[in-house]
Amino acid sequence: MQTSRRRFFGRTGLLAGSAIGFPQIIRSAEPEAPLPERRPQHIIHLVADGMCWSTFTMGNAFSQLRRQRGLRWFELLHREEATVTAVDMRSLNSLVTDSAAASSSWGSGSRVVNGALNVLPDGRELRPLMPLFKEAGWKRGLVTTTEITHATPAGFAATISSRGDAEDIAQQYLDRSIEVLLGGGRKFFEATKRKDKVDLHRAFRDRGYTVCQDAAALADAPNDRPWLGTFAAGHLPFTLDRDHDAKLQRKVPSLADMTRRALDKLGRETHFLLQVEGGRVDHACHGCDIAAAVRELVAFDEAIEVCLEFQQRFPDTLLVLTTDHGTGGPALNGLGTAYGSSSPLFANLLRAKRSFEAFGDEIPKEPAAEAVRRLLADATGYEVPETELKRFLEFLEGRWKPLFSGMNGRAMQLGQLLANHYGVSWTSGAHTIDYAPLVALGPGAALFRGFQKNTDVFRHYTALAGIDYRNPELPLLAECAPAAADVEPPCLPA
Ligand SMILES: [Zn+2]
Repeated sequence: MQTSRRRFFGRTGLLAGSAIGFPQIIRSAEPEAPLPERRPQHIIHLVADGMCWSTFTMGNAFSQLRRQRGLRWFELLHREEATVTAVDMRSLNSLVTDSAAASSSWGSGSRVVNGALNVLPDGRELRPLMPLFKEAGWKRGLVTTTEITHATPAGFAATISSRGDAEDIAQQYLDRSIEVLLGGGRKFFEATKRKDKVDLHRAFRDRGYTVCQDAAALADAPNDRPWLGTFAAGHLPFTLDRDHDAKLQRKVPSLADMTRRALDKLGRETHFLLQVEGGRVDHACHGCDIAAAVRELVAFDEAIEVCLEFQQRFPDTLLVLTTDHGTGGPALNGLGTAYGSSSPLFANLLRAKRSFEAFGDEIPKEPAAEAVRRLLADATGYEVPETELKRFLEFLEGRWKPLFSGMNGRAMQLGQLLANHYGVSWTSGAHTIDYAPLVALGPGAALFRGFQKNTDVFRHYTALAGIDYRNPELPLLAECAPAAADVEPPCLPA
């Protein structure tokens, strides 16, 4: 989700106050935790984008159904040496963050407004982790199931006032010579698609990169060259759709495949910082599609497994597993007598074959009842009862609107319709406020004890790498709540 800077300030009128009067640098008043004697040589930051605790809980329950074992991430919560904490992910302007502000807070240690990547509202540019780590001699990698230029990877590497400027972000990756770039978003590198007509693939090749566009090319990519892998024009397909399409499986690597290859290559280096994003948990939840979301979480867990194997071989590796915010607020509800219907309804998730994204466009503009009924039955296993189908079709025809405008969308109402089938309903198709769970394992994990702020992640990573650098920070824009005074810098009078 994106909020343009101009639109935001048009609503709040706060730009002048923060930009002109107070160019202050506020540093955290909290004492730094003592650094561990053993420092990590490798840091892997794993993000399941758009995952609240409820999504995590359902992902674990689905994993039990599907694989007869829980998520590895869940198992880690039992390990004594793992630290488990929660993180306040709010952005500079809102209690509800977007992925750009969230990743920027980790990436630069400074909160920005939603939609911005490492740029303060007064225009000051922040230095993110990737260029700082390069100066310290670390190799760097970004791996994601979204477009590689998307907000979460970009928050570690790019500096730009609008997350939507994907073509410029692609150029910044080249300028900052990130050694491993694997994900989707091919269109932002292609001369025929870019506004400036620059052939960025060629520019990457000229700088020594191996450019790969399918799973086989990635498997063969030489480990002694930097890589740019873009495996789809836009985002990579949902795991739910990939699992049911042999052609997609041959062409598009899974998140675990990409992570394994990234570690094959980066594992040869003395030091590296790698971000791995399961970015489409968020997209599935924006689309109120729980069947797609839980499979994205399982695919993310397979990438965690790859990282844990790597850590076994290279114990000087810090693993950090977290999320940036919730999306859609999905929850399995207590249903039926003594809630006895909840578990069998949830098990219907096993029957889904296609994501909403894959079949949603096949719902005709003027929907015929029988065609919609058949489409839903084929894709989800749900034989929609007559009354529900009638009500859904009336919504599609614009004959009623939900009371909460946040639910006024095709995907949201499809999600609510399917709630009768899966037992899982939604609060909206947007991001939600959530303290993000974070699990850390390996040297440096002890720094993540106690409740954390998103910006602490930057402080910990730079401290562990021996980098002494702080970006400027601004006070929160939207509120001056006294209750926040102990965790936030105080707001100055406007
Ligand atoms: Zn999102």
